[in-house]
Amino acid sequence: MRKIIFATSLLAVTLVGCKQVDESKNEEMETQSSFEWQIDRFADMAIMRYQVPGFEKLSLNQKLLVYYLHKAALCGRDILFDQNNKHNLAIRKTLEAIYTNYKGDKTTENWKNFEIYLKQVWFANGIHHHYSTDKFTPKFTQEYFLKLIEPLADNQLSLEGEARKSFIDTISKVVFNPKVDSKRVNLDPQSDILLSSANNFYEGVTQKEADEFYKNQLQKATNKELSFGLNSKLIKENGVLKEQIYKEGGMYSAAIVKICYWLDKAKTVAENEKQKQTIEKLIAFYKTGDLQTFDDYNISWVEDTVSHIDFVNGFIEVYGDAAGRKATWESVVNFKDEEATKRTEIISDNAQWFEDNSPVDARFKKKKIKGISAKVITVATLGGDCFPSTPIGINLPNSMWIRQHYGSKSVSLENICYAYDQATVNSGSINEFAYNKEQVDRYKKYGYASSNLHTDLHECLGHGSGQLLPGIKSESLKNYHSTIEEARADLFALYYMMSPKTFELKLLPCEDAAKAEYDGYIRGGMMTQLKRIELGKNIEESHMRNRQLIAKWVYEKGQPQNIIEKIVKNKKTYFVIHDYKKLQNLFGELLKEIQRITSEGDFVAAQALVENYGVKVDPILHKEVLDRFDKLNLPSYRGFINPEYELVYGKDSTITDVKVSYPKNYVEQMLIYSKDYSFLPVKN
Ligand code: ZN
Repeated sequence: MRKIIFATSLLAVTLVGCKQVDESKNEEMETQSSFEWQIDRFADMAIMRYQVPGFEKLSLNQKLLVYYLHKAALCGRDILFDQNNKHNLAIRKTLEAIYTNYKGDKTTENWKNFEIYLKQVWFANGIHHHYSTDKFTPKFTQEYFLKLIEPLADNQLSLEGEARKSFIDTISKVVFNPKVDSKRVNLDPQSDILLSSANNFYEGVTQKEADEFYKNQLQKATNKELSFGLNSKLIKENGVLKEQIYKEGGMYSAAIVKICYWLDKAKTVAENEKQKQTIEKLIAFYKTGDLQTFDDYNISWVEDTVSHIDFVNGFIEVYGDAAGRKATWESVVNFKDEEATKRTEIISDNAQWFEDNSPVDARFKKKKIKGISAKVITVATLGGDCFPSTPIGINLPNSMWIRQHYGSKSVSLENICYAYDQATVNSGSINEFAYNKEQVDRYKKYGYASSNLHTDLHECLGHGSGQLLPGIKSESLKNYHSTIEEARADLFALYYMMSPKTFELKLLPCEDAAKAEYDGYIRGGMMTQLKRIELGKNIEESHMRNRQLIAKWVYEKGQPQNIIEKIVKNKKTYFVIHDYKKLQNLFGELLKEIQRITSEGDFVAAQALVENYGVKVDPILHKEVLDRFDKLNLPSYRGFINPEYELVYGKDSTITDVKVSYPKNYVEQMLIYSKDYSFLPVKN
């Protein structure tokens, strides 16, 4: 549910959550090899750009709709900063004031470290790492910081009535004292998770008090399905708990008014009546803060399956609250990628054929199977909690009762995945771990299309295939269930990757494309995924266990026929596939066994497979992999800047077009956003 995955550190392993790309577009994009995907690199982060293919082909009305929704997506940025920590806006504005006014030496270590810190704060929408939620440690001194502030006049600081000294004292303490606000989301039950979390959702309120407060709300409510507490801050005033609602006239009003202004414009160019109503309901929610209206909006949104343009805008995900109640603000503006969506439909339409023809024992096959076809989208703008760090798949709404009664929308963010892939291709990791030029070339040519097909087969068919014998429960495999289940879905995909049916349905252009996926899968399972494991540790995560399980098993079983060979050249290890057809057969053999284990609930066999192949790591190979990655100096996290959209006017000052362009300066975009889309005071 929710965000399917955060592509945090993408190596040469399969991208889970991405969808198939249209081959012609792949080539079209490839010709733009001069396009600079990565534009900035600092600390453990890299900043990239994404393209918006297909935007030019939209009608003028659709382009305008994207344009207005894009504006609305940028207006909530300050909200997220303040939600993440109540000092974030004061700190960001101070850092920016220093940055834009500084006249001193910009070649010193101190200044460079100041610049990195500011870039980190922009990336994380605050002073805490977006992923670990630990507070950033500045690599410049407090003394230097105070020196940088000194020349700024009072009106260059966002004092808002506060005395200069107290303003500076407060932010210096928050930035430099490691004990103050040290973690944004603290889940450690040793301390009160609300009091010890540095986010701005509660003030002076304990977990117990908050729980009681919302239990009370629930008891009094006529509709008990509402997401109580979703859009508010809970504070204690004179000993009494009180909610400050995010709405026009309430908390974050100034930003919300701007969001509504642009949504109002968007409404006038809606594609159809349903979409217009959806936008109207969202505006009504922002004006009232009423949770029933929010659910009405969500229902209307999920029911709209015909609009080409779609968007997320609001208080959506609750990961930022240790209690999982309060939602951070975010936005994604997008339109449907018709071609790529067609691919998932083809797979889905042929679900029964794939089921009937799998190498699995007939007793374990489903007689009637229904594939899932997910929508593939092109992102036009990211905002709030989806920016600069972004998910690559989204499944909304979050409300369980709406999901049950009205369904949900599951989308994958195609052009974001493509940008990630381009970053991987150009990162040097393929050159490092692929054995020869043939493998590298194959990956560059087909790697993206084939890894997307893998994901499609895995998600749309793999998980849904097969059946349990009567009386067998999926819990029978206990702690090995997830790994076995992921292996089942992966093997389904791997097996069919090289099947004639795949080429007949034009899901892949040729066998070389399937080979690219096989190469990558073995590389990932045997070596590259180990980058994420600390030396000396075992593999814990089930997707990773599954990949090693499959790769090691087929390597071992193929030894007598030398199907996969381990080659050490210049002290570097490589795995080279000599016979792809035989490897496909081995995938089929393992799929058959894994399906048997699943269908029969054979715990002992599951345990043996996972423990023997999926858990333990060869420490010598592990060390080698880590050393080889170290030399590549890859970022652990990637984020994006947005394209820019500009209205084009005709002679009589009517709008004739909307132009998209791709800026390449991270700092500039951040400063523009802070100047043009900053509507909130530093204290909210
Ligand atoms: Zn899966």
